[in-house]
Amino acid sequence: MKILVINCGSSSLKYQLIDMTTKTNISIGLVERIGLEGAILTHRTASGEKEVITAEIPDHTAAIGLVLKALVDPKYGAVKELKEIYAVGHRVLHGGHKFSASVIVDDAVMEAIVECIPLGPLHNPPNIAGIEACQKLMPGVSQVAVFDTAFHQTMPDYAYMYGLPYELYEKYKIRRYGFHGTSHKYVSQRAAVLLEKPPEDLKLISCHLGNGSSITAIRGGKCIETSMGFTPLAGLLMGTRCGDLDPAIVAYVMGKENIGIDQINDYMNKKCGVLGVSGVSSDFRDVEAAANLGNDRARLALDIFVHDVRKYIGAYAAAMDGVDAIIFTAGVGENSASMRAAICDKMSYIGVSLDQEKNKTRGQELDISEINSACKVLVIPTNEELMIAVDTLELTR
Ligand code: ADP
Repeated sequence: MKILVINCGSSSLKYQLIDMTTKTNISIGLVERIGLEGAILTHRTASGEKEVITAEIPDHTAAIGLVLKALVDPKYGAVKELKEIYAVGHRVLHGGHKFSASVIVDDAVMEAIVECIPLGPLHNPPNIAGIEACQKLMPGVSQVAVFDTAFHQTMPDYAYMYGLPYELYEKYKIRRYGFHGTSHKYVSQRAAVLLEKPPEDLKLISCHLGNGSSITAIRGGKCIETSMGFTPLAGLLMGTRCGDLDPAIVAYVMGKENIGIDQINDYMNKKCGVLGVSGVSSDFRDVEAAANLGNDRARLALDIFVHDVRKYIGAYAAAMDGVDAIIFTAGVGENSASMRAAICDKMSYIGVSLDQEKNKTRGQELDISEINSACKVLVIPTNEELMIAVDTLELTR
């Protein structure tokens, strides 16, 4: 059984065709510059061969048309005919408070995703375009929406409400939603398998540390608290996002720099974080390299990041009355031994004892704590696409 997974951005589209018997991808690709000059599709076969296709790609329907053509191409395609694709799973950023799980797309679901556009103005419109394009080009094939926010819907009200007048929640649905839910769900399920315990018996802290970063407390298989908020700008300082701030700073900077709402929004999303502090790069590899060469601001950016992660871990251990395992995932979490070591330093208060040798691992599932560590430390490469495909198959079978 083959499931197509689609992740649409405003001008890009990532896809994977996953064989659910082996749980591996048999095709993977990326369309870039949709609607712009110089649009390009990079398609990879299961054996890693690359095919680059340039074409006019005015919109998401054209992009998906090209992807489907590539998938059935006799030379580099993955299937003989499109009928072999059983269903399509779409990553959708914002499901608001309506979706606590993945759903088969019908008219009512589409309407609800459209209603969530004000909450995810940059992401929901291209997500919708991707679904509509597949509905048009693959009639009769089930489409499933998998929301970044869904896993976090189990948070109790005292964790998702802000200290704002209640009317703002009623009028504008302002509350914490949380993101990266598919990733946190996937790694927490894998953690239960690695620890050989049912998810119901576990208290986990999942650290998704990449370009965008978030931390989630998972008790009994359910999210009870997460670091991102109303938008993915909140929580840790990230590659280019500021993370948590004293809210008064926003108005203060707008006044001092004489800038408007759009500019401050853009500024906090694209110019801050590790990039803004270090002045070097948003890429942790560059910043680590600069810090190792003695760049003080690069060192400071990393120190803030490590300090932030440690604070969240402490807070979430308190919120859950203990923690059985800390999970590291995404670009930094899966690959950076030095960041993991710095984060796990002096965590004996929750029983963490890191095995420095095992911590040298990169990009593979491993328990990197010492055998007698009361709190385990796990590296688990995330696989959001597989999680989307699993949900899609479960719902459509
Ligand atoms: P995204 O949020 O865009 O999905 P990723 O999860 O791919 O991001 O993470 C990207 C980040 O991971 C980049 O900042 C990159 O520098 C960092 N990263 C990747 N490999 C390493 C490594 N070996 N050491 C430190 N950071 C790394």
